[in-house]
Amino acid sequence: MIYSEYLIDGELVRGQGDESPILAPADERVLHVLADASPAQLDAAVDAAELAFTGWARTPPRQRGYLLLKLAERIEADAQALGTLESQNCGKPLQKAIGHEVPAVADVFRFFAGAARCLPGSAAGEYVAGSTSMIRRDPLGVVGLIAPWNYPLLMAAWKLAPALAAGNTVVFKPSELTPLSALYLARLCAEIFPRGVVNILSGRGATLGAQLSAHPKVRMVSVTGDIATGQAVVRAAAGNLKRTHLELGGKAPVLVFADADIPAAVRMMRTGGYYNAGQDCTAACRVYVAESVREQFLEQLAAEVSTLRTGHPEDPASDFGPLISRRQQERVQGFVERAAALAHSEVLVGGKVVDGPGFFFQPTVIAGVRQDDEIVQKEVFGPVVSVTAFDDEEQVLTWANESEYGLSASVWTRDVKKAMRTASQLQYGCVWVNQHMTLATEMPHGGLRQSGYGKDLSLYGLEDYTSVRHIMIDIG
Ligand code: NAD
Repeated sequence: MIYSEYLIDGELVRGQGDESPILAPADERVLHVLADASPAQLDAAVDAAELAFTGWARTPPRQRGYLLLKLAERIEADAQALGTLESQNCGKPLQKAIGHEVPAVADVFRFFAGAARCLPGSAAGEYVAGSTSMIRRDPLGVVGLIAPWNYPLLMAAWKLAPALAAGNTVVFKPSELTPLSALYLARLCAEIFPRGVVNILSGRGATLGAQLSAHPKVRMVSVTGDIATGQAVVRAAAGNLKRTHLELGGKAPVLVFADADIPAAVRMMRTGGYYNAGQDCTAACRVYVAESVREQFLEQLAAEVSTLRTGHPEDPASDFGPLISRRQQERVQGFVERAAALAHSEVLVGGKVVDGPGFFFQPTVIAGVRQDDEIVQKEVFGPVVSVTAFDDEEQVLTWANESEYGLSASVWTRDVKKAMRTASQLQYGCVWVNQHMTLATEMPHGGLRQSGYGKDLSLYGLEDYTSVRHIMIDIG
C-alpha cells in the first residue's frame, strides 16, 4: 500500500517539493520515496484552515467530539495497518506498536472528545455592581503542529486532539523521518472532518517547519522536538507574536535511596531506561544511587539489562529495535565513547553499535560517572543509562535539579516522608514515586526550564489551545 498523499483543503494530494527516501531503520530498506510539500502547498493548507476556522469554531463541542470519537474508532479498527507502518518506519517492536501505542492514540482522541464538552472556568456573576461578567474560552484560529520521530502517531494525537477539540483548525507536520503513519491518518481525517479543518503535510524542519512557525496567518505553533528546534520556532514565531507550545526533551533523574526496594527499581529500569531504544523524553537515563547500596544496585542492574534483547521489530523476542537513523546511531556512539574514555567510568553492559544492517545499539549501562560529565548532563536519546553514586539527600537533590532539562524524575524510597519531601523539591514537570514513565491521559505532561512550556494531555492541555476572554454586560 502506498500512503503518499497529503491532506490539503479536503483533498488528498501529492507533494510538489523535493523527493527523499523514507527508510526502515531496522534494515535500511527504502519504504517509500516521498515528495515534500512545497511552500505553496503549505500556504494553501494554511489558507484552507483559515477559511474553515469560523465554521469549525462554531460547531458545538458535542459535534466536534463526535468526529474525534469517529477518528478514534477508525484508528482502533485499523490498528494492524497503523501499528505495522509505525513499526516499519520507526523500528518499534511490532507487537508493542499495535498493542501499546495504537490503543494509547485512540484513548487520547476519546479523552479530548469528552473534554471539549466540559471546559472549566470561573462562574459568571456580578463582580462589579451593575455588571455581569462571564468568562469564555475560545479557539485561537489556525494552529501549526510539528511532531518528532520517536512516537509519530502518539505525538500526532497529543497535538491534533486538543487543538481540534478546542475548535481550532490545524496544519500538522510530522517528522520528515517518520511521516508514514501521519499520511495514513490524513486519509482517515479526509473522510471524517469538514474540508480545511485538518491539513496534514510533510517536509523538512528547516524549510516547511520554519515556514509554518513564521507564517503570519498561524496563531499558535506547537512543537515537540529538540531544544534548538524550540528556540528556532520561538524566534520564527516572534514575527506575529504567535503563541508557542514547546515540549523539548528531558534527562530524567532517578533517585534510588538506600531504603528503596532495589529489585523493583531495577525491574523498572528494564522498561524505563530502554523502551523505544531509549528514544523517549522521559527515559530513566540518569540514575543517582545511594553510595551504601551502589554495589548491590549495579550488580542487579547489570544482570537485568544483560537480559534485554535488541532485534528486528518483527521478532517477538525483541525488547527494543534500532535507533531512528545512522546519524542518531553515531550520536549515541559518540556519547558512549566519550564517557567510556573517562578514567573514572566503567561500561558495565553493552556500549557498542550492533553490526548492520540497521541502526541498532546495545543496551548500555555506564557506572562511576560524575555530575559534570557530558553523559550525565546531555540528552543521549538512546539505550544508555548512566549511574552516579550520591552521599546524602541534599546532594542528590542539588544534582538532580542541576540540569537544563525539567521534564520528569522519579524517587525510589520506602519512606513516605522522604518521598513527599523530595517530590516537592524536584523541579520537574512530573515526579513519579516508586515508578517511572507511566502516563495518564487525564494528567498533564510537560516540562520546566529548557524542556519547554505548555502541557500535553489533560484539561490543562486543552486550555493551552484556547484563549481566555472576559465578557462584561451592563445590567443597569
Ligand atoms: P527535532 O527537533 O529534530 O524535530 C522535531 C520536529 O521539528 C520535526 O518535525 C522537525 O522537522 C521539526 N523542525 C526541525 N527544525 C525546525 C525548525 N527550525 N523550525 C520548525 N520545525 C523544525 O527533534 P527529533 O529529533 O524529531 O525528536 C527528538 C527530540 O524530541 C528529543 O530531543 C526529544 O527529547 C524530544 N521529545 C520531547 C518530548 C516531550 O514531550 N517533551 C516528546 C518526544 C520527543
